[in-house]
Amino acid sequence: MNHPAFSSLKLANAQLKNLENLGYQHMTPIQAQSLPWILQGRDVIAQAKTGSGKTAAFGIGLLERIHAKYFGCQALILCPTRELAAQVANEIRKLARYQHNIKVLTLCGGMPIGPQIGSLAHGAHIIVGTPGRIQDHLRKATLDISQVKTLVLDEADRMLDMGFAEAIADIVQYTPVQRQTLLFSATYPQGIQAISAGYQQDPVTIKVEEQV
Ligand code: ADP
Ligand code: MG
Repeated sequence: MNHPAFSSLKLANAQLKNLENLGYQHMTPIQAQSLPWILQGRDVIAQAKTGSGKTAAFGIGLLERIHAKYFGCQALILCPTRELAAQVANEIRKLARYQHNIKVLTLCGGMPIGPQIGSLAHGAHIIVGTPGRIQDHLRKATLDISQVKTLVLDEADRMLDMGFAEAIADIVQYTPVQRQTLLFSATYPQGIQAISAGYQQDPVTIKVEEQV
């Protein structure tokens, strides 16, 4: 069965062209089910196994809301590890290729903080980071997320396993109440419900079951 083409969504022509160049023709099931809601601005909980294309689901959605001319952080993506943050940042850079001047910055622990502060001073539209380091920057006031339009909790199940629940709660306090909150996860443990109830408004829940 073929899933809908990206061209069935209301995306800029340049983005459709870019997706075509990336070899993305049809949406994956999680993309087909979540993107229409994400593009409407709804909060979404999306559960699908690893490798199902979750990054492009939230990436395409958040890129639609970025204003390139404003250099403040407009989207914040929290990931459990430095490696995952790097992968997500790479994918978003590919998806953003048609939009010139959109800057994606990673802020992760285990890296010196000085250069991160330097990069932040130049401005970044999209920040991908691990919760601990994002908290460090918020405490130092080297990061301003008060204008964030989209907050993504990627691999939320793993972030909970790693004990980031409190850090996430702290970070959310620095974001505007009027924001879109997207929660992506490979599994759906108990704690996810609490995270959703705490930070999302009237979320749409999407689960893509594994095909047998
Ligand atoms: P997940 O976050 O669900 O584990 P990823 O977002 O990392 O999955 O995507 C897995 C791979 O699928 C990536 O290499 C990505 O470039 C590719 N991909 C995503 N969406 C599509 C698509 N619609 N068509 C083709 N490849 C895609
Ligand atoms: Mg992922």
